[in-house]
Amino acid sequence: MEHSLDPGLYIVATPIGNLGDITRRAVEVLQQVEAVACEDTRVTGKLMHHLGFKTRLIRYDDHAGEGDRERLLALMQEHPVALVSDAGTPLISDPGYRLVREARARGIAVTSLPGPNAAVVGMTLSGLPNDRFLFAGFLPNKAKAREDVLLELAPVRTTLIFYETAPRLDASLAAIGALMPGREVSVARELTKKFEECRTGSPEELAAYYAQHPPKGEIVLLIAPPADKPVDALDVDALLRSELEVSKASQAAAKVARATGLDRKTLYARALELR
Ligand code: SAM
Repeated sequence: MEHSLDPGLYIVATPIGNLGDITRRAVEVLQQVEAVACEDTRVTGKLMHHLGFKTRLIRYDDHAGEGDRERLLALMQEHPVALVSDAGTPLISDPGYRLVREARARGIAVTSLPGPNAAVVGMTLSGLPNDRFLFAGFLPNKAKAREDVLLELAPVRTTLIFYETAPRLDASLAAIGALMPGREVSVARELTKKFEECRTGSPEELAAYYAQHPPKGEIVLLIAPPADKPVDALDVDALLRSELEVSKASQAAAKVARATGLDRKTLYARALELR
């Protein structure tokens, strides 16, 4: 088969819901490459069907081993090969990191075709400060690990962006309410799709709303930066009290110190008073 594209790896973003969001360049490249490496051949097969052509699909997902990667690398040394994920931009909470790293190490040409990304769509829609933001992937599933991530990121003075799933939204909102009191939160759901929704409020307000209207579909969760003024005494007491329910005073003080950036010794003294 004759290609007008040079050999190499073409990272191609695809729609996150609305098929109209595919770019012209993505269509041209997906049609012209020798093969498309994809997470799920059924999902990408449907996209191709919609676009009206059939390019060879090769499965490359999180379970791909060394052998799968070697075969793809050998192919892209001679031919143009595209990498897509089920939706959005490959590598962003999706497979591809090792493939790109190895391709670059071997001097294979790598290029990336920009397009939809749920984190960026959520950021633009939320109305939260966007001069700086930190994308932190999925919040962990387990309560303790989720709490650790939130405490680690609580003092960071940027909007925080997470990917989230509907069944875990209530647990995450409760944890944010407990560990980051007073922070504004946005839930951006079903972006680019028919039932797109973006709600902003306190974690408690959002939790109450979604208790009445159980969320469906895909979610981006955004947390506004901490207020410029220091956390006031009431917030600190609430944080310490909540930690004291499950930890010793020293541990509670250390956790709240990490979350707020306040002095650990002062917090420890206050924790002893509150206990
Ligand atoms: N690589 C993708 C991207 O560029 O956005 C993200 C892949 S990650 C495996 C899937 C997660 O992205 C979902 O669980 C959800 O948190 C978020 N997501 C993807 N599509 C979305 C949409 N249409 N609306 C809201 N969130 C979405």
